[in-house]
Parts: sequence; structure tokens; C-alpha cells
Amino acid sequence: MIAPGATLGLLGGGQLGRMFTVAARTLGYRVTVLDPDPMSPAAEFATGHLNTAYTHPVSLAELAQTCAAVTTEFENAPAEALLALAERTVVRPSGNAVAVAQDRSREKGFIAAHGLPVGPWADIRAESDFDAALAKVRLPAILKTARFGYDGKGQAAIASRADLGRVFAEWKRVPCVLEERLALELEVSVILARAADGSVEVFPVAENRHTRGILDLTIAPARIPAALAAEAKALATRLANALDYVGVLAVEMFVAGGKLLVNEIAPRPHNSGHYTIDACRTSQFEQQVRVLCGLPLGDPTLHTPAVMVNLLGDIWGAGEPRWEAVLRHPGAHLHLYGKREARPGRKMGHVTVCEPDAGRALEVALAIRRDLGVAESA
Ligand code: ADP
Ligand code: MG
Repeated sequence: MIAPGATLGLLGGGQLGRMFTVAARTLGYRVTVLDPDPMSPAAEFATGHLNTAYTHPVSLAELAQTCAAVTTEFENAPAEALLALAERTVVRPSGNAVAVAQDRSREKGFIAAHGLPVGPWADIRAESDFDAALAKVRLPAILKTARFGYDGKGQAAIASRADLGRVFAEWKRVPCVLEERLALELEVSVILARAADGSVEVFPVAENRHTRGILDLTIAPARIPAALAAEAKALATRLANALDYVGVLAVEMFVAGGKLLVNEIAPRPHNSGHYTIDACRTSQFEQQVRVLCGLPLGDPTLHTPAVMVNLLGDIWGAGEPRWEAVLRHPGAHLHLYGKREARPGRKMGHVTVCEPDAGRALEVALAIRRDLGVAESA
């Protein structure tokens, strides 16, 4: 067990890293952030900031030497950097698990190979893959780059074979996956922590609403039958066991035709788990600290129903939003990530509304969205 007072290393310094850093500092750890952004949201709370590229050998050597353990907050943290660090210090999750999660093709292959449900998909590496892919995946479909996509980026709608050829060429033939566009009834996510001894604690299943490929709203607990929620938790646990995963893992799932399909995994806390900070006995970020340091896992029980609203840069159109719209609600918790520049689609903060009555939480969250001028989705 790594006791408080030790220094923890963090690869990546965005908002997820910021909330990890707050949790770690609260528990009495020091945190060194490695992030090329001089204005890194996590570095604001950290005790140290290595302000270089993620693969910089001098920074990696310093992390390895000064940190009792290292974790990551984004899936594009170079798996090689994690594997190199693992030779000299504790790294959780492992570079190998991160490598699976950061490549959609490997990810889908892994999910399918372990008998977990996944929608129709096919690898696209060259034009010569088109025939086989279109035999497996019905149109309309979605083409996704295998790597570096997030928040709906690196995705294109494909209505015809001609679309597929055009988009694949426009993307300079980078490796892609083609996925059938499913009629989604609902999207849910399961976040869990798995410790080095294989023990697992699972957060409540969350229901997620996306707008233009970006998470908009999370409702916890998800409004699904108890049996489906139990199945979602079991699927996520099987996946974590199969990966021999140590850390916090998020599993995004679709509900289509009343059935669960795994969409993607994230080797870290997840935007849809931000509600755990205000609504669970242990947050996903404290859980990340606990797993990393070998502390007993915390209790993920929800103590109050919650609804989380993402605050994207779009609502800064006319200057700083009027925060009274949030702060006047006694059950609302405002979280801002300290980002200086508000761009459309950029995650600037979130609000979690906690109310003993789940319906009331949703009502207040929707009122806050409206008062802040968040564009209405579906
Ligand atoms: P990322 O979150 O990395 O941008 P996702 O694969 O999760 O990529 O896609 C973002 C969102 O787009 C999903 O949450 C879902 O709303 C929608 N989406 C993605 N794939 C499909 C699909 N095969 N069918 C229907 N909707 C999809
Ligand atoms: Mg996603």
C-alpha cells in the first residue's frame, strides 16, 4: 500500500486529471502532472507540472524516479510511455489495457473475442476491405477512425459505398472501423474499479444522452429494469476481468432492441461518472486514487439520485454564463475546470443536481440547462 504523503504521477492534465488531483491531494498525496499544455487544468491543483510532450524521455525518467505510482487520465496517453514507466514504477492501468482501449479495432475485436455483445462492425484498412465490410455491416453506417477519436470526432455518416470511398480517401486511408448505425433506445455506462487482487466495485449504471456525439446529460441511476442494470454491471465486470484490468474502467453500452451492446471502453474515469463526486459515497476519482495506491476500494453506493449536465463552451457565446441560474438551486453543484478559452463543443465544466426525488433532479437539471441557454437536443 502506498501511504498518503507519497507522490503520484499523472499522464495527461485535463479535467479528468484535475478531479483526480483534487481527490489525491485531499487524501494527502502529492501529484506531478505530465502535460504539454502550460494551462493544464490538473496542473493548477498539482504539486508539480512537467510541461513537456508525453513521451519526453527526461520527463518520463523524472516521473519514474519521483512517483510511487503513475496513472493516466486520457486514453491517448501513449501506451509506450506507460510500458516504459512500468519498468521502474507502479503503473495502473497497464499500458497493454490502455493499448486495447485506444484502438477501436483492437477494442471491438477484444470484446467480440470474449463473447461479449457488440453491434455489427468491420475493419477498414484498404479499399479492398469494402466488399467484406459491406457484407457484414448494413447501411446506413458510421465510419470511425480506429485511433484518436473522441466526442464524436473522427466519425462520418456513411449512406452508400461511394460515401465510404470518399471519406476513407479524405481521411488519407488511416485504419478505420465501419459500424452499423443502430436504432438506439438508450445509452448507458458502467464505471467500475478493479483492484490488483481482482476485487471489483461497480458504480450504479448511468443513463446518458448525447447531442452531436458529445455527452449532454447523465441520469443516475439509469431508468432501466433492474435485470438489465445487473446485466450491464456483469458485462463490464467480465470485460475488466478479461483485460486483467487494474484501475477505474468505464464501459459505454447501447440499448438496442431491448438488448445491451458494448460500444467502447475508456481506461479511466469517465464524463458520465462525474455525478459520483456529489452523489456517491466514494467518487470515481477517489476510487482511482485508492486503486492506484492499493488502498481498500471505497463504497460506490449512490446516496442521492443525480442528474449531471455538461457545460460546453457554446454557452459562453455572450460572455461568462450567469451562474446564479445554477447556484440558486440548493441541490445543484457547480464544477468548472478553469479553462481560459471557451470554444464550441469544449468541455468547460458540469453541474450535478442531487435531489432525493429522481424526477425532481431531472426537472431542476433541465431548468438549469434552459436558463444557461444550452441548445435543446432530442
Ligand atoms: P466517442 O465517444 O469516442 O466520440 P462513440 O463511439 O462513443 O465515440 O460515439 C459517440 C456517440 O455517437 C455515441 O455515444 C452514440 O450516441 C453515437 N453512436 C456511435 N456509434 C453509433 C452506432 N453504431 N449507432 C448509433 N449511434 C452511434
Ligand atoms: Mg463514446
